[in-house]
Amino acid sequence: MPTVVLTGIGLLATQSAEYGDLRDAALVIEGARIAWVGPVGSAPAADEQVDLGGRCVLPGFVDSHAHLVFAGDRAAEFSARMTGAPYTAGGIRTTVMATRAAGDELLTTRVAALTSEMQAAGITTYEIKSGYGLTVRDEARSLQVAGQFTSETTFLGAHVVAPEYAHAPAEYVDLVCGDMLTACAPYARWIDVFCEEGAFDADAGRAILLAGARAGLGARVHANQLRPGPGVQLACEMGAASADHCTHLSTADIDALAGADTVATLLPGAEFSTRSDYPDARRLLDAGVTVALATDCNPGSSYTTSMAFCIALAVREMGMSPTEAVHAATVGGAMALRRNDVGSVTPGARADLIALDAPSPIHLAYRPGVPLVSGVWKDGRGLRALSTVDYLR
Ligand SMILES: [Zn+2]
Repeated sequence: MPTVVLTGIGLLATQSAEYGDLRDAALVIEGARIAWVGPVGSAPAADEQVDLGGRCVLPGFVDSHAHLVFAGDRAAEFSARMTGAPYTAGGIRTTVMATRAAGDELLTTRVAALTSEMQAAGITTYEIKSGYGLTVRDEARSLQVAGQFTSETTFLGAHVVAPEYAHAPAEYVDLVCGDMLTACAPYARWIDVFCEEGAFDADAGRAILLAGARAGLGARVHANQLRPGPGVQLACEMGAASADHCTHLSTADIDALAGADTVATLLPGAEFSTRSDYPDARRLLDAGVTVALATDCNPGSSYTTSMAFCIALAVREMGMSPTEAVHAATVGGAMALRRNDVGSVTPGARADLIALDAPSPIHLAYRPGVPLVSGVWKDGRGLRALSTVDYLR
């Protein structure tokens, strides 16, 4: 298999406890995997050499929460909200109508555009949810579109109750657990439920996650975003890989997360775009909870594909250190997807890497809004050429 050695790495932030931060480092890529990591002076020979000019290298970001299959635009709703209108779960219905009306080709084109934005910004693993179809046909085709881009596909028929079932929500839960799940399970790895007032309560959420488990799908929960509620407890009870949002938590919720194998995935783009209070990451970290950061990219409440923006918000608004925020955006995301082949730069891991036009990952928060991601490698292939400016030396 062809090998490439990356030299001139000023700082290699491996995100691995074993390798830590290595200065003046090199690494060897063999095929799609990392074969060797260490000081540049002991790097083995390889078929090709790329000098990174002193740049900092870290694992590609792992975005464990994104809603990319949709049509339409909600800029007007965002604008109204910024001048005082509240955010409610009901706004999702606007996107549902546009998504149902869109053909597969349009949906595919839009996911392609968003995933290329993500990759250019350093996200090399991303989860994609359905949830804007809310019919058997539209949920299944949303997942088929998502599956063209990632293996981390999530069935979110339980995003909100479909408008046709507004007066019979129990019937909609039966549909999600029945025909919709049957049609969607072949195209999904995960099942998710929006457990929130105005969406699904704990009993409905439990029924949906149990049905998903019987169909072989792992659990995830949209939990405690808008107010305190049962979502986090449900996620921990069901052994979900992740409880997402975690904005309004009780002490009991934090204790439950600390005692469970459930990652707390924080999505500060949503609080930014709904002008809401941010989750308290410090409290979670101090309690020993594993924290992930994700974009929550969606047209209603967090229309960003920038993990660097989420890192900057986590540091500025949520009590995380830059090092903790970068760890949450890499290893944290990998743990939220129960993956150990991505999120860190260690021999044997996938060669998913980013190089920053910066000497350290701290700059991701220190220089907010600046596109610092210069080089991107996915499965060992360079997706984005390094900028030609070798200004770090
Ligand atoms: Zn979401």
